[in-house]
Amino acid sequence: MTVLAVAEHRRGELRDVSYELINAGRELADEHGTDLAIAIIGGDVDGFADDLNRTGVDTIYTVDEGEEFNHGVYTQTIEQLYAELEPTALLLPNTVNGLDYAPAVAGALDLPLATDVIGLEGGDAVEITREQYGGKVETTYDIDADQYALTIRPAEWPVAEEAGDAPIEAFDVDIDESALGTTVNGFEEVAGGDVDITEAEVLVSVGRGIEEEDNIPLIEALADALGATLSSSRPIVDNGWLPQNRQVGQSGKVVTPDVYIAIGISGAVQHVAGMKGADTIIAINTDPNAPIYDIADYGIVDDLFEVVPALIEEFGGDAPNL
Ligand code: FAD
Repeated sequence: MTVLAVAEHRRGELRDVSYELINAGRELADEHGTDLAIAIIGGDVDGFADDLNRTGVDTIYTVDEGEEFNHGVYTQTIEQLYAELEPTALLLPNTVNGLDYAPAVAGALDLPLATDVIGLEGGDAVEITREQYGGKVETTYDIDADQYALTIRPAEWPVAEEAGDAPIEAFDVDIDESALGTTVNGFEEVAGGDVDITEAEVLVSVGRGIEEEDNIPLIEALADALGATLSSSRPIVDNGWLPQNRQVGQSGKVVTPDVYIAIGISGAVQHVAGMKGADTIIAINTDPNAPIYDIADYGIVDDLFEVVPALIEEFGGDAPNL
């Protein structure tokens, strides 16, 4: 028996969640007293296997099929790996790709599936934790099944860092091309997609406190002065002031930068769900009771229209005349 995790990569790079799956998977494997295997499907599988060879992994399976994610390739491959390994648990990332194939795989294999898992506990039955009502409530569930599938939320487990020495095995799959349904012809980012905020080390994030679209250049100037990337809360995107790929939060992106500067953002649970994994959180907000201060490491309780120009000057930038 084993726990089988499936790594995720995009545009030639392993995503952080792949390394987080190792720690979550190790936890689960220890609960069950089993091994942890991790599968890499497509892309530079040999390079990825070396990168993923971290302490905690017992076996790495490489499946050399295609470059980018393809639903049919993933579902067929995981079903074949499952038939071969008969894992206790399938551990998948709760990402756009993971949520694309996890339900299909669970359905095909007749496995119970729990999504967006943020915690795991051992015992006779494994207990998982999920959030409800936009993060206001945490609920726990016992998984009462011998075999099951979980998707884990990115940034909830630490990345596995220490190098390991797990054997790497090429796994041969037999892909039924006629059943694939879709073919990947290329990859095109949506407008403004030159920036991936999940990869940024420093994010300067703007919220409704900015008042109007014409004021956004003030925050852009701070991001420029700091060499940071601009992101936002949802109302900014809903208003069409910044593109969707800049949105942080439950219905946006989950980010884990070294520094997250929240400017005029209240810290609603749906926003916090996307940025609480940042190493250092700095908030600028006039309201000392704003919930963002519950999680901020540093705070400036003041008017952003005073504070931001002063910061831009301090860091050698040019504040625009609004
Ligand atoms: P507000 O809550 O309006 O906060 C503005 C803040 O600016 C206030 O705290 C105020 O004190 C401060 N402020 C005002 N003027 C100044 C000034 N001059 N200087 C300094 N501070 C000032 N939200 C997200 O962000 N991401 C999501 O992914 C997301 N998903 C959602 C999913 C669902 C299903 C739902 C129901 C909601 C979702 N939301 C999401 C919306 C979320 O509930 C909040 O409405 C939103 O995060 C609020 O954005 P905000 O903090 O920018 O605005």
